[in-house]
Amino acid sequence: IVKFQDVHKSFGDVKVLKGIDLDIMPAEKVAVIGPSGSGKTTIIRMLMTLEEPTSGNIIVDGTNLWKMEKNGKLVEANEKHLREVRGDIGMVFQHFNLFPHMTILENCMTAPIHVKKEDKKSARENSIEMLEKVGLGDKLDNYPSQLSGGQKQRVAMARALVMRPKIMLFDEVTSALDPELVGEVLEVIRDIAKDGEMAMVLVTHEMDFALDVADKVLFLDEGVIAEQGSASEVIEHSANERLKSFLHRFR
Ligand code: ATP
Repeated sequence: IVKFQDVHKSFGDVKVLKGIDLDIMPAEKVAVIGPSGSGKTTIIRMLMTLEEPTSGNIIVDGTNLWKMEKNGKLVEANEKHLREVRGDIGMVFQHFNLFPHMTILENCMTAPIHVKKEDKKSARENSIEMLEKVGLGDKLDNYPSQLSGGQKQRVAMARALVMRPKIMLFDEVTSALDPELVGEVLEVIRDIAKDGEMAMVLVTHEMDFALDVADKVLFLDEGVIAEQGSASEVIEHSANERLKSFLHRFR
């Protein structure tokens, strides 16, 4: 469902990604691990169309994110094209990014209504269903400021899920949380992963969690995929010295 073909990304003179080739299958759960600055967030941001690759192709469900056909030629994508491809992709950030002036139910309903043009009644029903799924069915009319960090992050997940994306991106979603709140958020992600049909890309430092949910783990190091394989191959049995010393810091 996702294909990266020789994707490079530079910020000015700094080469952040140096040739990423990657295939993600429908429903596959992929964890991305690697040291700070290795380019993990950049991969996620490019998939979310928040950042454009310097070269290479990113194809989601058969559609090139950044290029479109016009009069038989491939040209730079326009805003309309980007808006359409974005509809298939949901994202949860490290810092929840909820709308503070809306209740949590309204936070979930707004994109289905305004982006997907769903009618209010079904947006409301779907949002309630998702909020119940993340364990917040009793907080529908609360405002984000009344919730704990873990609860806010669960709202952010419900808000993304309500759009029924084909791919969900999670960028270090537990790293801004107090340690005692990490578990409840990981539990919800595990639940979502069990549902099955969505592909998921998770940037995480939680290695036990990655072992548990990921079908595939990528070790990103200095802008290249230095190692990839099943979670157990990469996290438990790799011979890669840089990977081993990286893991040593987290386990
Ligand atoms: P971390 O674990 O610390 O979040 P990361 O692996 O997610 O790290 P990225 O956030 O992808 O790393 O950043 C990779 C490199 O790109 C870093 O050196 C960062 O400073 C640089 N970078 C990222 N975004 C920009 C930007 N908008 N402008 C300039 N440099 C950037």
